[in-house]
Amino acid sequence: MKTACRLAAFLFVFFVSFSVFAQDYICTTSKKRFYQPGACKNDCQVTREGNGLTRGVTMADKPCSFQPICVGITKHLTAPASGDMYILAYGAVALQKRSAYVQQPEKSILNLVLQRYYHYRIQQFNVRIGEVSGRDQWASLMPSKVGLPTLTVSPDLYLVTPAFLVSVIGHEMVHDQQYKRKNPVDPQGFVSVIDAMRELEASKFQQAIDTFDRGFRMETSVCLEENEAKEIRQVTACREWQVKKAIDDIRLKQHILNNLEKWMMADPWAKQVYIPEHPDWKTAHAGSAPDRTCSPSAPATQQ
Ligand SMILES: [Zn+2]
Repeated sequence: MKTACRLAAFLFVFFVSFSVFAQDYICTTSKKRFYQPGACKNDCQVTREGNGLTRGVTMADKPCSFQPICVGITKHLTAPASGDMYILAYGAVALQKRSAYVQQPEKSILNLVLQRYYHYRIQQFNVRIGEVSGRDQWASLMPSKVGLPTLTVSPDLYLVTPAFLVSVIGHEMVHDQQYKRKNPVDPQGFVSVIDAMRELEASKFQQAIDTFDRGFRMETSVCLEENEAKEIRQVTACREWQVKKAIDDIRLKQHILNNLEKWMMADPWAKQVYIPEHPDWKTAHAGSAPDRTCSPSAPATQQ
């Protein structure tokens, strides 16, 4: 029994270390391996050596190649065999050969992520690839009263691991679900709590620790790079504190606290996840922030 347990523990560690960090990108000229396509692209020297075929395609135009170890990504890339299926994996590598490979690789990658992981289609959004303004750093979703919501994606998101890209897009899809919820309670006096709670929900989803049934899940087996995983953990910890702080700030205004409770009971995530996880939410003190980058009003590194 003891041996079985030890073996199970070993296999778990082995699996986690293999699945969470995977150097899926290889420079075809130096044979060095990288976690992120952008890092490979920066480091990998283009060469004109090789036969006619490799000189034209592999070496000169696509020096970084995707040789995946990450199961959570590859399982979404296998079937059906279509050029687009492989684009997500290549990330920035796909962008190297923009015109000949795919006309708009950023949008093809985004469409693939939306469809395969979240059951959305790119046509449901007004998509912009460019600088992100507002509260979210890597991507943002702005609802519209008259047209489609605008989904803005930073070009930098294509330089990081596909896993991080998938998690950021998932964060925005959680916001899309939140925008569609109706709540009859007037939020006057506690908008700050709602804002913080929305971000906490999206960040917990991104960290794959959200238990809410939303029709899609963040896969725990996707392979983030170590710093990416750390960033998501830090942001989630900051969001936890920001919600507590926002509630702490209104805690002594009894009528506002009563309205907040009504709002929370009418919000499915607050009712099913936040309240059961924080039974003392009305009386808990926030204490100090978890780290120096986390403040009550300003976002930490990502929203
Ligand atoms: Zn957000």
